[in-house]
Amino acid sequence: MRVYRNTLLRYALAVISVAIAILIRLSLNRVLGDRIAFAFVLCAVVATSWFGGRRPGLLSAFLGGIATWYFVLPPSLTLFGKTDAALSQLTAFMIISAVIALLTGSLRIANDAIQDREDQLEFMAAAMPEILFTADATGRIDNLSEKFHEYTGKSLSQLSTLGWSDLVHADEKDLTIDAWKSAMVQRTEFRSTCRLLAKDGTYRWFQCRAVPMRDKRRGTLRWFGVCADIHDHVTLEERLGEQTRTLARSNEDLQRFAYAASHDLQEPLRVIGIFSELLIREQPENENSSYVIAQIRRGVTRMQDLIQSSLDFSSIGSMAAETECVSSLEDSLSDALWSLKAMIEESGAQIIRNPLPEVAGHQVMMSRVFQNLIGNAIKFCSTKPPVIRIQANREEKGYIVSVSDNGVGIPMQFAERIFEPFRRIHSDNGRPGTGLGLASVRRIIEQNGGRIWVESEPGMGSTFFFTVRSAAKTFDEDSQAKTQSV
Ligand code: ADP
Repeated sequence: MRVYRNTLLRYALAVISVAIAILIRLSLNRVLGDRIAFAFVLCAVVATSWFGGRRPGLLSAFLGGIATWYFVLPPSLTLFGKTDAALSQLTAFMIISAVIALLTGSLRIANDAIQDREDQLEFMAAAMPEILFTADATGRIDNLSEKFHEYTGKSLSQLSTLGWSDLVHADEKDLTIDAWKSAMVQRTEFRSTCRLLAKDGTYRWFQCRAVPMRDKRRGTLRWFGVCADIHDHVTLEERLGEQTRTLARSNEDLQRFAYAASHDLQEPLRVIGIFSELLIREQPENENSSYVIAQIRRGVTRMQDLIQSSLDFSSIGSMAAETECVSSLEDSLSDALWSLKAMIEESGAQIIRNPLPEVAGHQVMMSRVFQNLIGNAIKFCSTKPPVIRIQANREEKGYIVSVSDNGVGIPMQFAERIFEPFRRIHSDNGRPGTGLGLASVRRIIEQNGGRIWVESEPGMGSTFFFTVRSAAKTFDEDSQAKTQSV
């Protein structure tokens, strides 16, 4: 029973308890005489201050003292004419009962506070979806939350006879027991991921953890543990893993197929090329046949380009997946510029290159990225001679590399689509291409853990950005200031 919340009731309790104590004392008057005159009212003071609080306790001490003085101490039924000894008894009672009222009241308040805390903890344990438990220093489980009973259908006493390890799946049993024993010995945190037996006979995955806590005053050790149900998470992960493996398998099959198909297509194409050359030599040349043969040649070249691009595209996966390596972007860019030498000279393009860092990535693949981006910058130039700038800026985990040009630009609604295979947004206009260049670039960058995007304004030019992770060596940012022109 808690301290009464109703103030009137608390003070009424003081009056009633004193009245009862006096009545009992008076009824025993003949037996007790004037001995232990204050004993009953003292009990009333204790009861009032425990159930009613400190102030009603003090009131009962005062009323009890006066009532005993008036009714019990001789001569009774008068306030005057009492002995000196009676006066001393009254004074002692008043002091002692006041102290007792204050102490008992305070004790009750502290007791209620502890009780409230316990109630809250109990409520919290019941509200939590995890199974909570405590164990003594020897590892014997001595407390379990309601969730344990809900899940296993077993009570704490059943668990004591059964042993908790019998609820662990055979596959994880030994490991879990070993982990628990070693945690007990070393007094370190216990952790185990295991399946626990449910009341319907099935098993679910749980992540169990227990930490030791030393009671500073008593010097004893206790364990506080929690078992969280991670079954859905584990099964989802397993399913995801299986799906990823299936996807990787079909992706590999698809790549192998694309590679084989592109490879096999080259042969009949070469035959068409050779036979059309033979036709030219054998046929007397006239305007009509020259046109037809030129068309055949053009078709064959285009087809060869497409096949080569498809081959290159499908080979990216296997090459980029090679072991993690460090490459110098400087070298990759130089290789790309060397491959594009004829194109650069023919177009009169000006290439402005800032010093580039060493990055995590495949040297040949990085060179292919530059080759595609710079090749496009020259190919999609406007009437002005192409000016292409390549630079790298430090960011949190690596670098942002940019290749900008002053070409025809790209309407921003196509900014995403141009990275899809076979997407070309500018009409042919004498600009050769297969639409696989940017798709290959994106594949290389993404397989390297980066991303690529474009910012552009039609008529003003475009800037392609891509991110690369930095190599272990650091890039001297100051060197970016030095700009060299090729
Ligand atoms: P391709 O160059 O073979 O046409 P890409 O995949 O390299 O194919 O590029 C896709 C399309 O993106 C191009 O056809 C072109 O329309 C556009 N594009 C790419 N780079 C640029 C650029 N620097 N300036 C303007 N348009 C570009």
